[in-house]
Amino acid sequence: MNVLVLNAGSSSVKYQLMCVETEEVLTKGACERIGAEDGIFTHGMKPNEVKEIVAMPDHENAIARVLDCLVNGDTAVLKSLDEIDAVGHRIVQGGKYFKGSTIVNDDVIAKIDELIELAPLHNGPALQGIYACQKLMPGVPMVTVYDSAYFYTMPPKAFMYPIPYEYYEKYGIRKYGAHGTSHKYVAKRAAAFLNKDIKDLKIITCHLGNGCSISAIKDGIAVDTSMGLTPLDGLMMGTRSGAIDPTVVTFIMDHEGMSAEDANTMLNKKSGLLGVSGVSNDSRDIEEACAQGNERAQLAFDMYCDRVKKHIGQYMAVLGGVDVIVLTAGIGENSAVTRKAIFEGLEPLGMVLDEERNAVRGSERVISSDDSKVTILVIPTNEELAIAQDTYELVSAAKNA
Ligand code: AMP
Repeated sequence: MNVLVLNAGSSSVKYQLMCVETEEVLTKGACERIGAEDGIFTHGMKPNEVKEIVAMPDHENAIARVLDCLVNGDTAVLKSLDEIDAVGHRIVQGGKYFKGSTIVNDDVIAKIDELIELAPLHNGPALQGIYACQKLMPGVPMVTVYDSAYFYTMPPKAFMYPIPYEYYEKYGIRKYGAHGTSHKYVAKRAAAFLNKDIKDLKIITCHLGNGCSISAIKDGIAVDTSMGLTPLDGLMMGTRSGAIDPTVVTFIMDHEGMSAEDANTMLNKKSGLLGVSGVSNDSRDIEEACAQGNERAQLAFDMYCDRVKKHIGQYMAVLGGVDVIVLTAGIGENSAVTRKAIFEGLEPLGMVLDEERNAVRGSERVISSDDSKVTILVIPTNEELAIAQDTYELVSAAKNA
């Protein structure tokens, strides 16, 4: 089954066309800066990737461009759009409605629409992607896969905020989590890699990319996670602050005459590694600046690792110990220096990193030493594959029903 996976953000659409049975990626690419005069459209697999600067006024236009490239011109990989069997859409916020992936229908669309308020940068564009596909590929089944669904199993003591209860009742203010597709995928892969039943493992999964989150998994289900009502909570990230004393925000708003919208921008786009270092949101730049003795870059790096370390401690307490820690996403998979700093000093807790294994690049692998009580793994995440697999399962089941 060929599944087109679409991941729509506020001004971007990333896509991947995949044959689910073979897990082969047929092609992939991205539309960026949608709405700007100088949009960037990247299409095709390296080294034959094509990059165009082209205006894409909206998400429908961007998706039309993607579909055109799949069947026309040098980058074509299909004879016709009929060869696309299904579309899988990534949805950031499934709120209280979705505990698993769903086949798209009017009711699902109405609920995603209702949840826009909780994830305006993501759910709105994702809906536009769904509408565009309905128009451009009528009749092709679609599935929505929710970033929050994996955390549906969190108990109320983990997902409630200690604020007046009325705001939960009135607005649904609570922790929903994010990156769930990634946490679920790597936890499952970790158990398979270790040849163990996931239900027998206490797992902490660390998704460390531009966005960062960490989850606690017990008896095969998620029991806590660091992201909250929105993907701003928890760990320090590339440009996001993560958790801070809420008074910091009201203080700055008061003193700088800042609006709520500007405060949101400051916390989401100007904070994290970028805000503290003044250098970059990219951990490679931070590492380079640290090596050159840049003190603020070093401070940002130290703060980043310190927060991951503290969350690991928290979740050990939540789980009553830990058997496996998984690192994934851009930083988790690639930065040996960050991994080393995170686990430094955690030896008394049974986490011993093997320097040599940590330095090696590769796919799924153990980086803890043989005498480490806790097994530390690097597992590359593959959210697109997970979305394609869910899409395959639901569409196949619907066909056979
Ligand atoms: P992601 O959001 O998963 O694509 O991850 C993006 C983050 O991964 C950025 O901060 C990158 O700097 C970081 N990253 C990617 N490759 C490396 C690398 N080789 N070393 C350190 N960080 C990396």
